Amino acid sequence: MDSTRRESLKVFAALGAIALGGAGMRAWAAPLKPGADSALIVVDVQNCFVTGGTLPVKGGEEVVPVINNLAKLFENVVVTQDWHTPGHASFASSHTGKKPFETTKLRYGTQVLWPDHCVQGSQDAAVHRDIAIPQAQLIIRKGFHKDTDSYSAFMEADGKTSTGLGAYLKARGIKEVYVAGLATDFCVAWTALDARKAGFKAAVIEDASRGIDLNGSVAKAWADMTKAGVRRIQSTDLG
Ligand SMILES: [Zn+2]
Repeated sequence: MDSTRRESLKVFAALGAIALGGAGMRAWAAPLKPGADSALIVVDVQNCFVTGGTLPVKGGEEVVPVINNLAKLFENVVVTQDWHTPGHASFASSHTGKKPFETTKLRYGTQVLWPDHCVQGSQDAAVHRDIAIPQAQLIIRKGFHKDTDSYSAFMEADGKTSTGLGAYLKARGIKEVYVAGLATDFCVAWTALDARKAGFKAAVIEDASRGIDLNGSVAKAWADMTKAGVRRIQSTDLG
């Protein structure tokens, strides 16, 4: 064996030891225990966003059992619903000549245009029937102003109209939120980012969320969230 090869084997061995050390440390680290000042926010796990819905997120329904299990660890749970008027400004069908997934300019900025989805009172907008979180205390509906979208559960897309969620959580003594659901790169990310802006600690549970991924939007969402101090965790980190 020449010395170069021997050196690279040594390097690989060292990397292996680091990797094992990392995994070992994770196994031994105490799990995150949500307390009375923590809340789980279950974002938009609705029929519209799963297979068979009007705006299906790939694998969207796979988050249901993960979230049901996770929710058992939380005393405080908030569930959100995307809840649009018919003819909503976020629908491509409301803009002549526009197709879903194109963009347009609305008064508050660039808006991605979606297929008609989550219309108020429709079966499509109902929470997925297998979501089983009986202790959930608040269902917050968003995107109900006809001319304004709201990915975030805290703040509408104009950046100034509050949904009231921040005030509710503060009144309840919540300091930390864990966010999961659909979709990672839109409503989950915007909710987590706005949670940070509102002064909460925030984490997104990656394996309890699924993304749409338009032009690299999942990677961008994680970069933005990391920069804003949102922790990226897995459901197994909680216990
Ligand atoms: Zn929507």
